[in-house]
Amino acid sequence: MREPTAAPASPAADGKINLLDLDRRDLEAFCVSLGEKPFRAAQIMKWIYHERVTDFAAMSNLSKGLRERLAACAEIRPPELALDQGSRDGSHKWLVRLDGGNCIETVFIPEPDRGTLCVSSQIGCALACSFCATARQGFNRNLTVAEIIGQVWRASESLGEARNGNRAITNIVLMGMGEPLLNFDNVVKATDLMQDDLGFGISKRRVTLSTAGVVPALYRLREVSEVSLAVSLHAPDDELRNRLVPLNRKYPIAELLAACRHYIAGRPHRRITWEYVLLEGVNDSEAHAHALAALIKTIPSKVNLIPFNPFPDAGYRRSGPAAIARFQAILMAHGLTAITRKTRGDDIAAACGQLAGRVQARGRRQRPLRLAS
Ligand code: SAH
Repeated sequence: MREPTAAPASPAADGKINLLDLDRRDLEAFCVSLGEKPFRAAQIMKWIYHERVTDFAAMSNLSKGLRERLAACAEIRPPELALDQGSRDGSHKWLVRLDGGNCIETVFIPEPDRGTLCVSSQIGCALACSFCATARQGFNRNLTVAEIIGQVWRASESLGEARNGNRAITNIVLMGMGEPLLNFDNVVKATDLMQDDLGFGISKRRVTLSTAGVVPALYRLREVSEVSLAVSLHAPDDELRNRLVPLNRKYPIAELLAACRHYIAGRPHRRITWEYVLLEGVNDSEAHAHALAALIKTIPSKVNLIPFNPFPDAGYRRSGPAAIARFQAILMAHGLTAITRKTRGDDIAAACGQLAGRVQARGRRQRPLRLAS
């Protein structure tokens, strides 16, 4: 498979290094390179992520000399917001403007007991899942660490999160645009910053990476990260999954399930969240529900049923409420935890699979990933 190339660190015209591109280890190394002690990194991170300060001059516990040196060679530059849309139901969608005129989308979904931020990991997506709006725009490029963590930074600012106080954002899901495991290094650094106490301090289990199933990357992830895992299964057999999620031709269901078992092995209380989009007449029959249950029954699991979110020329319809209820009931009768995801942000097209952004750099657009069949 041709994997997208790593994104450059956020390019700055003046060659300054954007500190949002650095995780804790990188920032310590950067401080050492300036002749400082590594603990300066902790002080700087608190300013950036707890206080949302972008001006070095305001970092009052750093010496004047260091503040000046930082200002000369570094910057703290989150991406700009192009649009901030609120929904009637309290959800929020931001259009985030990136260098080169591209935009991506970030969504916030408040619920009584939590607030979930849905962030993007790529501009567009190479995976060509047949029911997903993002797929239609093809793949443009990977997001930098600064562009991923910058979405959280901007959302936190926009929601008016109290500095160092109660957080509106309690959960983060990488379920926006893109396939996070095809932007591995940047996604791992950004999720580390989400979980780091000196970063956004979100509890480890409340940062969830959603993947269509890039099997080798799942094994690598197990070694370096403690994010929770959501897997876009969508079909209980290879024949159907090949059609819905073409990546399945490269990494079929049996290999994917083995990688998922490995991911949670030795990690108590962890389970895999299986995402299953319900498409009328395609994958929503009673037989599909029984087959799905048989497949995942022996893996600690939770099933998230997602009523299909339509978009123009999608070619699929959402399963009706009766079919959805029946599907869920069958899974539960097999002893599985299954929930039907509420459709939120309908009026602002903020639901799963509807995030299309605006890719303006059309000339740089690449074809969807070609997969060996
Ligand atoms: N590439 C990652 C993240 C993508 S989006 C992945 O595949 O998991 C997050 C979820 O939304 C995925 O489960 C995806 O399959 C699902 N999704 C995509 N389009 C959808 C649509 N139109 N309606 C409902 N869910 C959709």
